[in-house]
Amino acid sequence: MNPPYLLFDVGGTDVKSALADDAGNLLGIRRVPTRRGTANPAETLIEQLHVLGAELRAETPLVRPEAVGLLVCGIVDEERGRGVFSANLGWRDAPLRDMAARAFSLPVGFGHDVAMAGAAELEFGAGAELGAKVRNAVMLVIGTGIAAALFIDGRPVSAGGYAGELGHAAVPGGLDCPCGAHGCLETLGSAGAIAKRYSQASGTQVRGAREVLKAMQSGDPTAARIWDEAVEAIAFSIAQLSACIAPETVVIGGGLAQAGEALLEPLRHSVRRRLSYHREPLIVPARLGGDAGLHGAFLKASEALGRKP
Ligand SMILES: [Zn+2]
Repeated sequence: MNPPYLLFDVGGTDVKSALADDAGNLLGIRRVPTRRGTANPAETLIEQLHVLGAELRAETPLVRPEAVGLLVCGIVDEERGRGVFSANLGWRDAPLRDMAARAFSLPVGFGHDVAMAGAAELEFGAGAELGAKVRNAVMLVIGTGIAAALFIDGRPVSAGGYAGELGHAAVPGGLDCPCGAHGCLETLGSAGAIAKRYSQASGTQVRGAREVLKAMQSGDPTAARIWDEAVEAIAFSIAQLSACIAPETVVIGGGLAQAGEALLEPLRHSVRRRLSYHREPLIVPARLGGDAGLHGAFLKASEALGRKP
């Protein structure tokens, strides 16, 4: 079967690329550091994608991709095809969809990395496992920071790219945030915050939240307190969402999700404690791992050709 799609998932740290066939099987997945720090970050990105695409095509010379799926991080206006803002990569209101379409001479399906990773989880991953089609859901990606994708009545909520910034909504006990606001969920609930806060409180430098979890499991009360504060902060946000948009399920992805039940079990408990008549969401782990974005890019690419996968 021909792999007719060329897929890119552009994050602040790396660019993932792959080919996909009609059924969405990913081939030749690669991960390279995102090029950054130039005067024209949008042009630099498109040049990098062009080189990656040429390499993928050289590896499989008989394959002629028919469309491109391109996801980028930051604030993304899917309808207008523009990267509105990326704090990490530096573009401002860049017409990335049209730039990519010119570079590849192919139709381009364009979207936001977290929104489409969420859509892919609902279509092929955690959502597919739940059986009946989930129409109201939240995908929470908890890593260095916290990002979210919201789905209401079967539709993703974009709001010009500004929806889903749950990591930068205030929670009780939240701290000063590098974004300029005070109290953001990210300052307590992210994997980055857990590691940083534990290092500060214990005087022991740790590289990641995984080490804090280990310390907690071997009885370290400082680690237990910081883990608990992270869980409470995330639960607060999920309870707010339950009152606002009543998701049937909350899919937890990103690095912190690797903690598995050590995160999910106390999180479910804390969310339940905060709800009364509200619809309690099923809190489940993401299933597609680091390739969720590429699966999301596949959804966008097939949309660009007017196909429904
Ligand atoms: Zn913030």
